[in-house]
Amino acid sequence: MSTRSAGGTNRVAGTSGGMIASPGEVLRAAGRLIAADRWTVAGMLTLGSLAALAALGAPYLLGRVIDTVATGGGVSAVDGLALAVLGCAVAQTVLSRYALGVAYRFGERAAARIRETFVRRVLALPAAVAERVPTGDLVARGTTDVDQVAITLRDVLPGVFIGFVQMLFIVGAVVVLDPVLGIGGVLSLSGVWFLTRWYLRRARTVYLTEGAANSRLAEELAATTAGARTIEALGLHRQRLDAGHDAITETRRTRLASLALRSRFFPGVETIYAIPGVLVLLLGGLLYTNDLVSLGTVAAAVLYLRQLVGPLDAIMIYIEQMQSSGAAFARIEGVATIPVPVSAPVGVPDSDRIEVCGVRYSYGAGPDVLHDVDLTVRPGERLAVVGLSGAGKSTLGRLIAGVDRPTAGTVTVGGVPIADLPPDRLRRQVVLVTQEHHVFRDTLRANLMSPAPDEDLHRALRTVGADWASDLGRDLAADPLDGAQAQQLALARVLLADPHTVILDEATALLDPTAARTAERALAAVLHERTVIAIAHRLQTAHDADRVAVMHDGRIIELGTHDALLSADGPYASLWHSWHGDATQQAPSAT
Ligand code: ADP
Repeated sequence: MSTRSAGGTNRVAGTSGGMIASPGEVLRAAGRLIAADRWTVAGMLTLGSLAALAALGAPYLLGRVIDTVATGGGVSAVDGLALAVLGCAVAQTVLSRYALGVAYRFGERAAARIRETFVRRVLALPAAVAERVPTGDLVARGTTDVDQVAITLRDVLPGVFIGFVQMLFIVGAVVVLDPVLGIGGVLSLSGVWFLTRWYLRRARTVYLTEGAANSRLAEELAATTAGARTIEALGLHRQRLDAGHDAITETRRTRLASLALRSRFFPGVETIYAIPGVLVLLLGGLLYTNDLVSLGTVAAAVLYLRQLVGPLDAIMIYIEQMQSSGAAFARIEGVATIPVPVSAPVGVPDSDRIEVCGVRYSYGAGPDVLHDVDLTVRPGERLAVVGLSGAGKSTLGRLIAGVDRPTAGTVTVGGVPIADLPPDRLRRQVVLVTQEHHVFRDTLRANLMSPAPDEDLHRALRTVGADWASDLGRDLAADPLDGAQAQQLALARVLLADPHTVILDEATALLDPTAARTAERALAAVLHERTVIAIAHRLQTAHDADRVAVMHDGRIIELGTHDALLSADGPYASLWHSWHGDATQQAPSAT
């Protein structure tokens, strides 16, 4: 069994805990979102400011009502003031509604941009890198994290922009109204500042830990689901249950930690909110009895300070959400920090010759699985690669197909490193056909992944014997293909890509014998006039090939024609004899 089962993929360094954007990168990303929609943001701020201005009217006017009554003013004066209060309230409501409308539009658009950027970045990862990023982790980033940031952008950020403007206006108004009461009241709120700093020092770590635990849980679940058959076959239920249980316990622990932090922060903030009201009433009472302020001014100051709680609360919620969604955003942006090997500008291959020179390869930090492999593939030849399972045949195939790049040495086509070729150019050189045929949930036409005109698509499908494929618009999500059809589709893709070299990695091994015969005919049509490197699971393939490379323990230990290797009486000869001996009963697998 290879190490590819049950989540045993080779991981990108750091995995779930890694791939985190720095606070600076997150800020820059947020700046880009705002810049991309600057007019909407400007509109939101303008409307928010006007709403905040309208909100300032009511407390001031109520103060005047109290003073008018205290000094024995007439009913009509009070009526006039009350009407003005009503006018302010209406104006505030209408302006706030439009401000929020504009803000939501900004939030939704920004959320959409984040999603699109995320998907674009993931799709732009070279296949070899993407394969090593744990799937569950990517899924958690692309769903839970993106949702969290989207909710913050849509629901919280607009409220906060507006809240911030309101807060500035209210502080200004209360200080202008009465500097002593105003400054005293605002200063008494300074506890919020210290408490918030205390909170912020802890929050990023707590939320990042929580995000990593979520990812690990998703990863464990994905691994268990993906490896269900292996788990069943090897009786690994207990281990997988334990792993799942550990991941859940860890998620619970990190969630409790963040909850504990919140449940100290918020009650603390609420308590501090009560202080200015009390202080201004005491201070105001003292000033009033000494005839230094009017009753209305004290009342207005208290009302203003009460009004401050609304925007302050919005900002506190923002800070809270900002911590968790900041961590989520850092994880989303972190995808941009995945190290992608930079390739030097590539030349154009000057021939179809593939050369493997002094190649070593290891999966991640593991041991070398290929050692000093040298091989020249002659254009037009059929080369079979044989050897026991784990000998390194598939790995060599992946290197020649440009899926992975060698740890040392070079793999070139016409003098150009294969793995450096951009995907569209690579497809025209070498294509790897494996047992896995991915069918996208899309139309047949889209699944052929070729810009060629419909007649060419039909011709390719006919060549591979896909008689069922008359309708290119067939929706393969609603009307799925069976295994043999999926393989024909894969072969049609190869025909359309038209590479000079095809690598077959057990391409027909999964099919039942009847289907295999049809598939082999289709394959023959595809391989016509191309260089073929067949990773052979049946030695018959080796017999029919122009040359055979025998691999053992990551090395090519023999290379030559079938006949030459047989007469050399080395490892290939013994493989051949042991296979040929019982080939009449059953065709065993050499891999
Ligand atoms: P073969 O195709 O001859 O069966 P492979 O190329 O699949 O051999 O494997 C060669 C070695 O590399 C084996 O020891 C295998 O366990 C290891 N290997 C293969 N794929 C991976 C992977 N994704 N991560 C880590 N090790 C791997």
